[in-house]
Amino acid sequence: MTKDDLVVVTGAGGFIGGHLVKVLQRQGHRKIRAVDVKPLDEWYQKHPGVENQVGDLALLEPCRAAAKGARTIYNLAADMGGMGFIETHKAECMLSVLINTHMLLAAREAGTERFFYSSSACVYNGDKQTDANVTALKESDAYPALPEDGYGWEKLFSERMARHFREDYGIATRVARYHNVYGPHGTYDGGREKAPAAICRKVIAAKLSGKHDIQIWGDGEQTRSFMYIDDCTEGTIRLTGSDIIEPLNIGSDELVSINRLVDIVEKIAGVKLKRAYKLDAPKGVRGRNSDNTLIKQRMGWAPSTRLEDGMEKTYRWIHDEMTAGKASVVNMSPGHAIAAQ
Ligand code: NAD
Repeated sequence: MTKDDLVVVTGAGGFIGGHLVKVLQRQGHRKIRAVDVKPLDEWYQKHPGVENQVGDLALLEPCRAAAKGARTIYNLAADMGGMGFIETHKAECMLSVLINTHMLLAAREAGTERFFYSSSACVYNGDKQTDANVTALKESDAYPALPEDGYGWEKLFSERMARHFREDYGIATRVARYHNVYGPHGTYDGGREKAPAAICRKVIAAKLSGKHDIQIWGDGEQTRSFMYIDDCTEGTIRLTGSDIIEPLNIGSDELVSINRLVDIVEKIAGVKLKRAYKLDAPKGVRGRNSDNTLIKQRMGWAPSTRLEDGMEKTYRWIHDEMTAGKASVVNMSPGHAIAAQ
């Protein structure tokens, strides 16, 4: 692939897609098409020199328009959010299958050579995630299948479809299983946000309002790992250019509890908050971490940004957004999500 070949990023108005377009541009790609269903003024990032296209990729025709002439496609478009969203919008999550089906069909028609698909750690068998003291999940733990209901089943099915498009039609499909990605320029309110952004928002709101308490979903002892966005984009580009045909974990292996994540954000903010635990809120699995043995073996690389460093940058960005008047700090509902995918 040369820097003049067309690269398409779907879901480019969203969090990871917006960052990916920026990194591809920095790497010297001159022809990038960014596609999303949202109107342009709602995209988290827009980059000059990029062909921005608005279209509903659940439908075949917009997928054809998106894929036309593409040598490589990064398919990140999906209807998704944090645990508060995916546990209550299972049908909507499963309908992302239309995006993945139509994008693969369109890529095949367009003669696309490489196709990246963003799967998730939510494909892993739930029975292996019942203890907060987790054994990290390795790629083979997806089978026998018992993924997250709705969102996870759709991801596992679409992984499988990507595999068969490779085997039957010769498209070089590459599949990443992302583990909770966080960073600036993502959702931090409205109900689709994930734990790192939600915690930053709530700590900032508490600090600004002087009301020093915070509500946490579950008992806070559930564990996760969180990957900083720069590691995510780097891993995505490396995987897409590689010869690794099996789905691969792209995630941090720095395990933390949600309580520890709150400690980190409190330290960045310089406050100490009174914690209230909402035990009946959506919490997801009890514990989850990424086993990075395979990615290290195959790529000689793995995500390495320390959580405290990534959270510092994320906190600063959300703080700037909230204090610039883009969100109503005072009216922020205290019940908003602090859960992890
Ligand atoms: P995001 O919600 O910020 O971005 C997804 C984008 O897809 C949105 O901008 C949305 O408008 C767009 N989209 C939805 N339906 C569409 C449609 N019909 N046509 C065109 N665009 C459509 O999410 P993200 O965090 O950037 O996630 C990107 C991908 O990575 C998704 O596939 C997601 O499932 C996967 N993933 C993300 C995480 C994470 O922690 N962020 C973890 C695991 C997997």
